[in-house]
Amino acid sequence: MSEVAMFEGYPILPFASTYTVPVERLWTPWRRAFIEGAAGSSDGGCFLDASTWSGDDRANLVLFRAELVFVILNRYPYNSGHLMVAPYEHTGDLARLAPDTASELMITVQKAVAALEAEYRPDAFNVGMNLGRSAGAGVPDHLHLHVVPRWSGDTNFMPVIGQSKVLPETLDQTYDRLEPRFRS
Ligand SMILES: [Zn+2]
Repeated sequence: MSEVAMFEGYPILPFASTYTVPVERLWTPWRRAFIEGAAGSSDGGCFLDASTWSGDDRANLVLFRAELVFVILNRYPYNSGHLMVAPYEHTGDLARLAPDTASELMITVQKAVAALEAEYRPDAFNVGMNLGRSAGAGVPDHLHLHVVPRWSGDTNFMPVIGQSKVLPETLDQTYDRLEPRFRS
């Protein structure tokens, strides 16, 4: 294992979509540095603020836009299909989220789960939100709800040589599979 890159004590395997961490770490502050450097501008702006993005929705991995919320692929997924649903509004205050936004947020999560079920046939899902940095939010000032498809056994560390495990799939492939599911 000595030649394997590590992050916070966990090995990072060669492809972003083919590494995993133990399940108890799922909602911990796991790839904050990655996430914050992931999309859009590098000027310290919030990566979930569309106004800071360059490029189109596909380049930014935006799968679907509703009126008040949108769906974006996680650039560093736990599993293929790991996506996030977030309001356009830059707020970390769930308790004071406007009812219309809260409603559309959950309706869009339903849509996301349905899209993933149809396309990936996972065994299960994790759906959740980290509120505040201590709870593991990499971007505590902008609410985002994770939807992670799960398969039996996907919490195991994957052998470095076993690259066939856990749906090795590029983000572009994931995008191409899921985007039409949101249009139908
Ligand atoms: Zn924001």
